[in-house]
Amino acid sequence: MHHTTPITELKGIGEALAKKFALLGLHTVAELIDYYPRRYEDFSVITETAHIQPGPVTIEAEVKQVTGRYVRRGLHITEAVVSDATGSVRLVWFNQPYRAGAIKHNQPYFISGLYERSNGRFSIMNPSMELSGDFPINTARIIPVYRETKGLTSRQIRQALKQVLGTIRTLPESLPPEILKSQKLISLAEAMEAIHFPSDASQLERARKRLGFEEVFRLSMAALLNKRDHQTEKGVAIGFDKGLAREFVSHLPFTLTDDQRKVVWQIYLDLQKSEPMNRLVEGDVGSGKTVVAAMAAVMALREGWQVALMAPTELLARQHAETLYRLLEPLGSASAVDLLVGSLSAKQKTAARAAIADGDAAFIVGTQALIQEKVNMDRLALVIIDEQHRFGVDQRKSLQAKAGHMPHVLSLTATPIPRSLALTLYGELDVSILAQKPGGRKPIITKIVSPNSRPQLDKAINAQLDAGRQMFVVCPLITESESLKVRSAEQVYEEFRKKDFKSRRIGLLHGKMKAADKNDVMERFVRHELDILVSTTVIEVGVDVPNATVMLIEGAERFGLAQAHQLRGRVGRSHHQGYCYLMMSDSKAPSKRLRALESSNDGFRLAELDLELRGPGAIYGSMQHGQLDLRIAKLSDTTLIAAARSAATKFLAEHQDLSAFPLLEAQVARLRAVTNLN
Ligand code: ADP
Ligand code: MG
Repeated sequence: MHHTTPITELKGIGEALAKKFALLGLHTVAELIDYYPRRYEDFSVITETAHIQPGPVTIEAEVKQVTGRYVRRGLHITEAVVSDATGSVRLVWFNQPYRAGAIKHNQPYFISGLYERSNGRFSIMNPSMELSGDFPINTARIIPVYRETKGLTSRQIRQALKQVLGTIRTLPESLPPEILKSQKLISLAEAMEAIHFPSDASQLERARKRLGFEEVFRLSMAALLNKRDHQTEKGVAIGFDKGLAREFVSHLPFTLTDDQRKVVWQIYLDLQKSEPMNRLVEGDVGSGKTVVAAMAAVMALREGWQVALMAPTELLARQHAETLYRLLEPLGSASAVDLLVGSLSAKQKTAARAAIADGDAAFIVGTQALIQEKVNMDRLALVIIDEQHRFGVDQRKSLQAKAGHMPHVLSLTATPIPRSLALTLYGELDVSILAQKPGGRKPIITKIVSPNSRPQLDKAINAQLDAGRQMFVVCPLITESESLKVRSAEQVYEEFRKKDFKSRRIGLLHGKMKAADKNDVMERFVRHELDILVSTTVIEVGVDVPNATVMLIEGAERFGLAQAHQLRGRVGRSHHQGYCYLMMSDSKAPSKRLRALESSNDGFRLAELDLELRGPGAIYGSMQHGQLDLRIAKLSDTTLIAAARSAATKFLAEHQDLSAFPLLEAQVARLRAVTNLN
């Protein structure tokens, strides 16, 4: 059987069933083999019927007697009595009328199921049975349980997998033999058989170790190869001017935190090298990343280089331009800042581009697409990417082509990537962490609220608004949805305007509005011409309105942990106490996620938890978990990760490339494109 063989060629899989398999993404034999169980049930211990106890059991016994009958319409019962050398036990099946006829008498079977009391008698209920001479898949072993879909059970998936055992057992090895040997790993074929049909718990553990190691090994390899590439690129060295740094800091209305100081220093060291910087600054929302970026920028500007700051949204680009203008003004270089966003008029854009071209504007702030496509940047020496994970190889290469050298790249992210994941995923990056938040901030008070406590909530909100503060309201949807029972932004806006907050000035902001209208609403909120801003997640990243103290998240259960934490970070940005209310759609018990948000303000801790609850996909949004291939390795397993990383490092030190290992090479090539996020 070939890997690309469609599963319809397997026995028992017709067109109808194949459609169910397709729903799980399974079309070919290779995909089937690659479909890992979600969990296992241990039926491996065989008990004598004389010693049977309530709970999951396996016995080995012969059928002495079996009868089937309808007890009433729609309810069929099959009963059997089976015996081993020590005694007998009763089996019961509901609505499996074919059972009685399929059973062979006086032949030993493995029988696995739940032994429990039903109608006053103990029986094994709805057990699985397999002749004990066969290779059992549903009985007498650690049994895999798969993600199922309606009309397709784990039993059927096991049945299909049993038919491809031959293919599994001859799977070609993907890891180099020296790695298998030094890491004491079992072969791929052995591991794949054991992941589906483990012979015992220790074999399953060996399979997990092998497959988990391979996942991290490949990822590390991809990151290291990317890094190797970066190191050969030519950049430009930017000198360090101590006086300038001092002057900049002296004009700040606050003192830098120790972390900010440390990170700025790391960046200055990077900039002085001719090898291009590739650094990620991770800092929770409100940790003060913008100032750090500005301090990097002034050094480059001083030497006559161009700097580009790319933001994910136009809103954010505008706000950054204003902030930078203010920060650079005391140095007399505010005029270097130029905004380049889509909603500028054609005339404004032409003017902006001309200013950039003749060097009047050296600090270009805008959205990524616009900057990359429209600007002549032959003096570009530093690129700052705010709140984006997507700045891939291709984008870097295109900048390099325009500038003739590779600019330094500084990425800022408030998505606190747990260190274990950062090291694995971003092995090619240098990572700096802003762990401290600026002093004088009170931790945000977070409360889960249910719809029936709206009156009390309104009271609390009004107290804030009366005190002159402002409120953000974030909804999961723009317009009402038939299928989802969540309040949309439009709905909340109308209700608040007509009822709850009639006397307040309320604005509506969402992604479907024209850019100019969005800016207008946002600016009115910033100028405090609005008290309440009802929006969707467009305000998720970056926006800074220190007077806003209340964040109300509607349909809070629909947001991921990391995302909700980001949203919450929009408040509590000043000396005023910040509040975050997590409004649920119904009065059910709050989820673990919401409770975590309520009890912790620590973005890193929450990200770890999100990772545990939902996998890396939660953090990287559209970037799929599957693409990362971390299906078995747990990021909390630091020993495994460290071993795989150091094995990858050593391997690359000893081998020029991976051409001797084509399977590995292909897998790594695919990952290099995915992991090269920056
Ligand atoms: P983020 O890291 O989320 O991008 P910002 O750079 O927007 O955070 O900073 C959040 C707020 O904190 C801004 O109003 C900024 O002026 C202020 N800020 C930055 N650094 C400090 C500091 N060291 N002390 C006090 N306030 C600071
Ligand atoms: Mg920011």
